Amino acid sequence: MSFVVGIDGPAGTGKGTVAKIISEDFGFINIDTGATYRCVTLKVIENGISINEPDKIIEISKNIDIKLENNNGKQEVYMDNKNVTREIRTKEVSALVSQVSAIKEVRFNMVDLQRKMAENSNVIMEGRDITTYVFPNADVKIYLDASEEERANRRYKENIEKGINSTYQEVLDNIRLRDENDKNKEIGALKIADDAIVIDTTNLTIEQVVEKVKEIIESKLKSEGVENV
Ligand code: C5P
Repeated sequence: MSFVVGIDGPAGTGKGTVAKIISEDFGFINIDTGATYRCVTLKVIENGISINEPDKIIEISKNIDIKLENNNGKQEVYMDNKNVTREIRTKEVSALVSQVSAIKEVRFNMVDLQRKMAENSNVIMEGRDITTYVFPNADVKIYLDASEEERANRRYKENIEKGINSTYQEVLDNIRLRDENDKNKEIGALKIADDAIVIDTTNLTIEQVVEKVKEIIESKLKSEGVENV
């Protein structure tokens, strides 16, 4: 069987952390769809291509090789067989990614790839348009939200832990810019699916969010008569 959990929401709502814990607990494959758009953006930057050259960007998205691997519990991202796990999180990539991901053809290519990654597997997939576009029939649909300031605060602390150089204001500005771009996309815009369960994580710990998500998944598995996935 194939069981799909989709989690959408803006940056800094804890999607990545929640998906990682849930994937380990339930044995699901964890697919971080943001990483696919970040890889395209990194390659665009590496090739000195500007956002005003959409044809070149589309060509890159057509031919890029992206793999998400789990190495000893760590999610690693490979682009054209090179480990780019760190490079895709830089300020430069974060500043450009929402514009690259707004290009329709780039989205078509990435969505194809994401659907292939999920083929015949039980997956937890997180992004912006998973529950509305990539898997509109996902078994479980969750939308995580939180205030802008709380999200910026979380991302800022995360950057410090990862050794990524940034100020709180830069992080907040980037979050605002990406929210704006992500909500106004022609295709795959960030929005709440009609049948998604919304969790406001502003005042919740990650453990509390995980607990809520787990309960939702378990109740769905039960209602579908699945004992073990
Ligand atoms: O999740 P993350 O913050 O790494 O995503 C980076 C960017 O990729 C987002 O700001 C958004 O522009 C884009 N994205 C998207 N659709 C997805 C996942 C991410 O457009 N499903």
